[in-house]
Amino acid sequence: MKKGIVTEYKDICFFCGAPAECEHHLLFGSGTRQLADKDGLKVPSCNKCHNMGQINERIHENPMAEKLSKMLGQAIYESKIGTREEFRRRYGKSYL
Ligand SMILES: [Zn+2]
Ligand SMILES: [Zn+2]
Repeated sequence: MKKGIVTEYKDICFFCGAPAECEHHLLFGSGTRQLADKDGLKVPSCNKCHNMGQINERIHENPMAEKLSKMLGQAIYESKIGTREEFRRRYGKSYL
């Protein structure tokens, strides 16, 4: 697994600061998570903020949070890796 390029704080949840228990890939969905992994577009997370909290406390199955996650992933891609067109080609669509 490649290391994340989003934050240098590997051991705390990106969302709430609690000890990290897993990783969230900012871009996800079929075939997409692996690309996000290669690009380092992932953040440390606690289980509650990731997928085990109440729906409004977590990223997954929370439609607006999922959308913002993908938008952030693309924004970081465009600031550190490549252009919007390159993102669109690699991930198949643009969220911005
Ligand atoms: Zn958390
Ligand atoms: Zn996730």
